[in-house]
Amino acid sequence: MDIKMSNCGVLSIAKPSDEYGRQKALERLQILDSPSEKPFEEITKLVSMTLGVPICAVSLLDEDRQWFKSSQGLGIQQTCRSAAICDHAIKADAPFIVEDATLDARFAKNPFVTGEPYIRAYAGIPLRMPDGYLIGTLCAIDKKPRAFSNAEIAVLANFARLVVGEIELREAASVDALTRIASRQAWRTATEKALAQGKRDGTPTALLLFDLDHFKTINDTHGHLVGDLVLRAAAATVQKTIRRSDIFGRVGGEEFAITLPDTDLSKAGLIAEKVRHAVQRLRFEEVSGLECTISVGGAIYDPGSDISEWIAAADKRLYLAKNGGRNRVEMADRAVKRVPQANLA
Ligand code: GH3
Ligand code: MG
Ligand code: MG
Repeated sequence: MDIKMSNCGVLSIAKPSDEYGRQKALERLQILDSPSEKPFEEITKLVSMTLGVPICAVSLLDEDRQWFKSSQGLGIQQTCRSAAICDHAIKADAPFIVEDATLDARFAKNPFVTGEPYIRAYAGIPLRMPDGYLIGTLCAIDKKPRAFSNAEIAVLANFARLVVGEIELREAASVDALTRIASRQAWRTATEKALAQGKRDGTPTALLLFDLDHFKTINDTHGHLVGDLVLRAAAATVQKTIRRSDIFGRVGGEEFAITLPDTDLSKAGLIAEKVRHAVQRLRFEEVSGLECTISVGGAIYDPGSDISEWIAAADKRLYLAKNGGRNRVEMADRAVKRVPQANLA
């Protein structure tokens, strides 16, 4: 996608006090720079029609930019934040209305008022997520001065609630409820992106698949709730062991996948061993003596092949690791030497 960043010639405005928390909340949603999605397109189209405005957008306020999840009547994907009228809306923490921007000292010199798209009237409703953070706005914009009636503002506020609902649905589908890591679908989508990037950069991408050993016995011995606790603890410890840029997902009941961008076979083998040790070291206050191990299979992506062949190659190694006695790593092409614990710190 060709993203144009507009040039903005205005000074920054002060950021709200919990800007850091707000930014983190927005990042957690993993919505910035995501492709266009139908529900958001439909809402912005409906707002344009219902309120009779040529421009409508779902604007998300990132650190230094506003990025449009969906927009009608705007030819750009993002602008710098200092020129975002939407930033004033989230600071106001209430419906924010401007009837004629040329008569408002805050906006008369705004580059989007003095130039394309020549904003005159603006109505924006902050998007408040259930955690309380205002991540952006749903805004309606006209190129001529106008007032917005209370009924119109109420309609816009209702559409804004729909936007929040859609963002929540999107998140529910992408995050696994038990472990809070990526769902199978979200892992796959992010992995496809990473593979494309790896192809462009000419860097290898590795895959580690792992499965908890004898997990059925853990459930049978200690109960399903303890089983859930083990799954959560294993996911959390693996998440801490890998890099932020690695893509970690729950792809089955007690099966997980880690996509490692820019990682060759030997590095991937080391990371696999690190992960295996990290899970093995877990102890559970609630159940003394409870231990959990994993078997890991790994493979490097062959750019000429299909993503499912890559997954099948790693899965085959996982099967070998299980058959080889469990609590071990097997990598495609060659077996990974067991690394002594002392070398893994
Ligand atoms: P192996 O070492 O060969 O992987 O043996 P295993 O017992 O781990 O494998 P098996 O496939 O026989 O059993 C997996 C178990 O994982 C069965 C299933 O009930 C349990 N499981 C799957 N999802 C969950 C979950 O969300 N919570 C809990 N507590 N158990 C789960
Ligand atoms: Mg298992
Ligand atoms: Mg399994």
